[in-house]
Amino acid sequence: MSTDHAQHVQRMSRLMARTLREDPADAETLSHRLLVRAGYVRRSTAGVWIWLPLGKKVLDNVARVVREEMDAIGAQEVLLPALLPREPYEVSGRWSEYGDLLFRLKDRKGADYLLGPTHEEIFTQVVKDQCTSYKDLPVMLYQIQTKYRDEARPRSGVLRGREFQMKDSYSFDVDDAGLAASYALHRAAYRRIFTRLGLDHRIVSAVSGAMGGSASEEFLAPAAAGEDTFASCGSCGYAANTEAVTHPLTPATGQEHGPVEELDTPDTPTIESLAAHLGVPASATLKNLLVKVDGEIVAVGVPGDREVDLGKLGEHLAPAVVELVTAEDFVDRPDLVRGYVGPQGLGKVRYLADPRVAPGTAWVTGANRPDTHARNVVCGRDFEVDRYLDVVVVEPGDPCPACGAGLSLDRAIEVGHIFQLGRKYADAFGLDVLGREGKPVRVTMGSYGIGVSRVVAALAEQTADERGLCWPAAVAPADVHVVAAGKAVQLGLAEEAAAVLAAGGRRVLLDDRVGVSPGVKLTDAELIGVPWILVAGRRAGDGVVEVQDRASGRREELPLEEALARVA
Ligand code: ATP
Ligand code: MG
Ligand code: MG
Ligand code: MG
Repeated sequence: MSTDHAQHVQRMSRLMARTLREDPADAETLSHRLLVRAGYVRRSTAGVWIWLPLGKKVLDNVARVVREEMDAIGAQEVLLPALLPREPYEVSGRWSEYGDLLFRLKDRKGADYLLGPTHEEIFTQVVKDQCTSYKDLPVMLYQIQTKYRDEARPRSGVLRGREFQMKDSYSFDVDDAGLAASYALHRAAYRRIFTRLGLDHRIVSAVSGAMGGSASEEFLAPAAAGEDTFASCGSCGYAANTEAVTHPLTPATGQEHGPVEELDTPDTPTIESLAAHLGVPASATLKNLLVKVDGEIVAVGVPGDREVDLGKLGEHLAPAVVELVTAEDFVDRPDLVRGYVGPQGLGKVRYLADPRVAPGTAWVTGANRPDTHARNVVCGRDFEVDRYLDVVVVEPGDPCPACGAGLSLDRAIEVGHIFQLGRKYADAFGLDVLGREGKPVRVTMGSYGIGVSRVVAALAEQTADERGLCWPAAVAPADVHVVAAGKAVQLGLAEEAAAVLAAGGRRVLLDDRVGVSPGVKLTDAELIGVPWILVAGRRAGDGVVEVQDRASGRREELPLEEALARVA
């Protein structure tokens, strides 16, 4: 066997991949459990992961496919630093906008730095430095790089890390048509990437969140472990993250609800205490109620439009979490300000704020104090319609905004996100190029992300079964897992099989461990999840091996030559 071929045989006797029979105690998701148990990753600290040899191979395979498809649309690969100065993030406003999500640090001289959560600012600077004329555009740049976000709940293994791998790309065009074209190229490339990776995915409308900008779509991988919920319509194909399902605001008119009545609750309210204050059953659904906890609105019920279902606020109001996100695309669409209540309904409320209204501004009459509840609120009379936050609970069966048919809701993992940013960052940094007419033209921009490390976990979530991981061929750490189920004739036959496969260019994992029982080796092979398992066992003396298709579990005993042809 030449050394050239030998590099394709990874020996289990040498492989740093200790498998575990028990699930790690803190593991909440299937991918987290299995990637740890099968020896792909180990936790370093909360949300920070060590990629062991098998994991690194899968990660690299995902990155390779991403790279090939980005290169194919003409994007150029660069590598920017993760350690970034404060100044450009101050220019964009994100030094403070990012809040606790940002890892901030100081150098020895006391200067402020951050660890990059995403790189719009720096790419804008790069293009400002490199491009001066419309002839230099369009340009698309990308990197596959480590990102840092101090996530509040880094609990699902590599699905949500505080340090993670992202492919981020950025397009720069002179006009809207150019941006639309760059966006379309990325959208098509993303479809090819996820299809090649073997990931079941949907493209859904999304909201732009802290990124700013207008049009945006997410690539979601349906999976129970997902933290996103998307609504889809079986009739017309409408699909949107529930955060983005639009419901037009219907302004209420009448005075029939009487004057605003404020109800103070001194302590943190519960559903029961709130219901008692209001004099209604705890299961009531109310149309004219605003609920504020700790100064934040947690529910809005407007006559003729939204209701507050007290039961849905959760057992207690105390765990209410309010996340304020600005959304520039709403600046000229006061009719579309919208929001979302988590599917569990347990007090998890998200808002899309009218960006003209600073959080905490006194813009709602009557319910503007902590732990205050206001009754008889009339939209338009008691607060301005264009400064109104609408909270929408999307439920299965709700009418599709496009065709009215019933919506279905499913859990999914966000694996990619594409944005038409427009001129937000170009404006902030004064990014102009000299246009065709000799006058400066403001550049328009898109940004596009794929969670490369998250995709590894998303694939694991979608494909694993009760026996372990089960990788699609494109990302598997090897093509064939050859098991020597015995140390004499079995090992000889397994070595021979591995050598032939490697010579044919197949990537082989060879279980040549001595003193490990055949049963343990087989269990490990199924846990590790390489697409083909080839076992030299009982009938090795006759030159017969067993071939197992990991995904279907189908097994066949075949003479070695036929077995090799089967897995080639
Ligand atoms: P999420 O909603 O899951 O927090 P995001 O919307 O904040 O993700 P983006 O800013 O859109 O993420 O980043 C682009 C991509 O990076 C996401 O689509 C996702 O695949 C990946 N990503 C984001 N945050 C993480 C994380 N903490 N760990 C792993 N991958 C992540
Ligand atoms: Mg996030
Ligand atoms: Mg998201
Ligand atoms: Mg996103």
